[in-house]
Amino acid sequence: MRAAAIHLIILYLCVATGGTAMATNDDSVFAAARAAMVNEQLAARGIKNQDVLDAMRRVPRHRFVPASEQAYAYRDMPLPIGKGQTISQPYIVALMTELVQPRSDARALEVGTGSGYQAAVLAQLVDHVYSIEIEPELAQRAAKVLEELGYDNVTVRAGDGYAGWPEHAPFDIIIVTAAPEHVPQSLIDQLKPGGSMVVPVGPRYSVQELRLITKDANGILHEKNVAPVRFVPLRRSNGNEQQER
Ligand code: SAH
Repeated sequence: MRAAAIHLIILYLCVATGGTAMATNDDSVFAAARAAMVNEQLAARGIKNQDVLDAMRRVPRHRFVPASEQAYAYRDMPLPIGKGQTISQPYIVALMTELVQPRSDARALEVGTGSGYQAAVLAQLVDHVYSIEIEPELAQRAAKVLEELGYDNVTVRAGDGYAGWPEHAPFDIIIVTAAPEHVPQSLIDQLKPGGSMVVPVGPRYSVQELRLITKDANGILHEKNVAPVRFVPLRRSNGNEQQER
């Protein structure tokens, strides 16, 4: 399989170059790698929004991955973050952020906090990010990193984001970073007229379509499939783990 071969090559690259940067919170070790990531993986591939590029130049991605993955934090790939979940490839984070056209007065919802990295990038560009994560341990870890880094405009909650976050709706922006088979109606309902949602839609553990859904001023939906992607599935819970942090 081609995917398996690519995986092996990536694994080999990791092993071959591992240990170049030690697990550290010292940003200077990573700043050059981050600048190169923005130029080579994002700008060179067509990300044009300068605010998005600047945000990704600033957010210390290595702080959002486990210590054992820090050396690879600025590589062109997703990385494991525990609990069988992943932090998305930087390009996908940039693409999703650019697609929703963030504005400084926007209120955003993220479903699938994971590491907290996408929330941090978005938080640089909007007024407030509400982010929901179904794995309590990941929610707790992300909330801690975001707090340590001084993001006071991100609220993380452990729980099932399938039903959105009605208490803070409607949202100008909704970013879903786990794939449902169909777009949850509750999320569409919680999108403001004039707002944008980006969501990977499709079968579990397969290729999905990254879909941009905009709601115009009259409440009419417009949808466009942007790119084939591969996300972890959006899971459901019994709703018994709702806890605000
Ligand atoms: N945005 C993340 C990547 C998320 S990976 C980042 O920047 O790191 C997708 C995440 O969605 C996983 O952590 C998974 O646990 C979470 N998830 C899956 N189903 C969910 C649901 N129904 N509600 C909230 N989070 C969910």
